[in-house]
Amino acid sequence: MQFDAKIPGGPLEEKWNRHRFDLKLVNPANKRKFEILVIGTGLAGGSASASLAELGYHVKTFCIQDSPRRAHSIAAQGGINAAKNYQNDGDSIWRLFYDTIKGGDFRSREANVYRLAQLSNDIIDHCVAQGIPFARDYGGLLDNRSFGGAQVSRTFYARGQTGQQLLLGAYGALMRQVAAGNVEMFPRREMLDLVIVNGQARGIVVRNLITGEIETYAADAVLLTSGGYGNIYYLSTNAESSNVGACFRGYKKGAACANPCFTQIHPTCIPHTGDHQSKLTLMSESLRNDGRVWVPRNAGDFRDAQDIPESDRLYFLEEKYPSFGNLVPRDVASRNAKDQCDAGRGIGLTRCAVYLDFTDAIHRDGEDIIEKKYGNLFEMYERITDETPYKTPMMIFPASHYTMGGLWVDYNLMSNIPGFFVLGEANFSDHGANRLGASALMQGLADGYFVIPYTIGGYFAGTDLPPVTTEHAAFNDSVKQEQEKIQKLMEIQGKRTVDNIFRELGKIMWEYCGMSRNEKGLQEAMQLIQNLRGEFWEDVLVPGNDKDFNKSLEKAGRLADSLEFAEIMINDALTRNESCGSHFRLEFQTEDGEAKRDDDKFCHVSIWQYQGEGQQPAFHKEPLTFENVELSQRSYK
Ligand SMILES: Cc1cc2nc3c(=O)[nH]c(=O)nc-3n(C[C@H](O)[C@H](O)[C@H](O)COP(=O)(O)OP(=O)(O)OC[C@H]3O[C@@H](n4cnc5c(N)ncnc54)[C@H](O)[C@@H]3O)c2cc1C
Repeated sequence: MQFDAKIPGGPLEEKWNRHRFDLKLVNPANKRKFEILVIGTGLAGGSASASLAELGYHVKTFCIQDSPRRAHSIAAQGGINAAKNYQNDGDSIWRLFYDTIKGGDFRSREANVYRLAQLSNDIIDHCVAQGIPFARDYGGLLDNRSFGGAQVSRTFYARGQTGQQLLLGAYGALMRQVAAGNVEMFPRREMLDLVIVNGQARGIVVRNLITGEIETYAADAVLLTSGGYGNIYYLSTNAESSNVGACFRGYKKGAACANPCFTQIHPTCIPHTGDHQSKLTLMSESLRNDGRVWVPRNAGDFRDAQDIPESDRLYFLEEKYPSFGNLVPRDVASRNAKDQCDAGRGIGLTRCAVYLDFTDAIHRDGEDIIEKKYGNLFEMYERITDETPYKTPMMIFPASHYTMGGLWVDYNLMSNIPGFFVLGEANFSDHGANRLGASALMQGLADGYFVIPYTIGGYFAGTDLPPVTTEHAAFNDSVKQEQEKIQKLMEIQGKRTVDNIFRELGKIMWEYCGMSRNEKGLQEAMQLIQNLRGEFWEDVLVPGNDKDFNKSLEKAGRLADSLEFAEIMINDALTRNESCGSHFRLEFQTEDGEAKRDDDKFCHVSIWQYQGEGQQPAFHKEPLTFENVELSQRSYK
């Protein structure tokens, strides 16, 4: 099967403009005849719902939380990239494009990434118009800071709460449309299935999480904006409700999944302390602007940080990567931190941590300046660890954070199922094998505010959509199947809690399919996961009943999906016999221990397609062609 990315022709700089012109339009009066379902209210879903309703489409929007405002995007801390070049430090659309392609280790599409860089500037203008309180400098201009993988300052921020401010902007726009009657909001709903009629996405089946009722909704198109699957590692910086379920249900209905093994491990998280934890906390990458990462130079030096003199400290990123120093991309920073801990230089009780030290920055700029930049992050750190970074260096360690893999989409953000669009972290589109910091918010908002309003119109205008209602047999079949699945989960009444099994899955994935992987480990993991899946279906305990608010039941469904999805991730990691970005196969590294790509064999998107229960998924490739940048060994030295 061919997966056609539908990249428009012409020069890179003109592709998007030309494409927008070429796309057919829907007459304003006809827009109100189209019904669109949006799953998710994060930055991608919130912005898409608001923009589509503003255009005149009728939108129904769903989310797991009690309010759209509580989507995971609210937690984003550090900032959002844009190529405004306000700093006059050499930035440009081209440079943002190049940094993103290189940061992703040449495993993303040139055309998508260039469009993202172009739209980045529109996002800032739009958000400023919405009233987002971005930080400003002394003269009143928008301020910027640096993020990893870039030598310019292009990250716009609102202290350490950028996601919160951006989501409040999107939420405001969404609620305006709710009030206008153009968006109907359905909180506390979980999408369980995608309904396909005559090969087109025509609806969804959801569970009302308060009453347990199964509900059905028909429409002309479905937009999935359900976020990432970083929680497959159980411990991650993601919100508890972030999950692979909606994507996986789409996958089971035929939507292909791309590069599932590309998962991002973030270098600066508060280290985990034991099995009592259900979540980890991020310390924003922005802290690496001023914080210096170090470990004791000698393995087994367990003195307190302040007792270790400069000569006995190893600033390993600054020494190894003099050009980028502490601002190397996340995959590189994470692997180096792990290497130091593996070499016995780890600090803290578990010896699985490195220091992030602000002493020099505080001496240079003063505590009040540092407080202004990072005050809320320092406060969060102190509340969790009972230590203040103003006095003692932070301790940090890598943790699961973001997923570059996701459902496959073409240039129009449409999956291989007509009418099923995927936006934001849920798709695979723009970040290749490693996302640069502050680029996820940019992508989510580009998809929702600026791409989908055009491409969905092109779909509607060029597609025959016969009327479909929830009376159609496809809805009934799907409801029956979901009810049976819920019943099955309720009837097991075994001995292991959902969290207990989930934690075990997370440990397997972290150990064998996390920061580094190898063939033997991946094969072992495959077996362990198959065994665990068997145990889950025999011994899971879901208390309560299904006609009520039941968190265990919700989580059990998500765990069942994760136990299957984990196998696809492992298969993908096994099949990609190279290292690139976050996918670090120990067998494929350069002499200096960096990721070693094999462009001859693996310069492609890996695509997996469901073939039925118990069958191996089909494997396809979308070749990646680079006409504007030269493929090179990534170097941050
Ligand atoms: C702690 C943290 C900090 C971050 N900081 C930054 C940053 O500074 N800059 C940056 O660029 N990126 C950052 N990121 C990444 C960024 O926050 C995310 O990639 C982005 O917010 C994802 O947005 P989204 O709209 O795709 O999905 P989300 O915000 O995850 O929203 C998903 C939505 O889908 C809904 N949903 C999920 N499943 C279902 C279902 N089955 N049925 C119904 N609804 C469903 C949820 O309820 C939710 O509304 C950070 C990530 C983390 C974890």
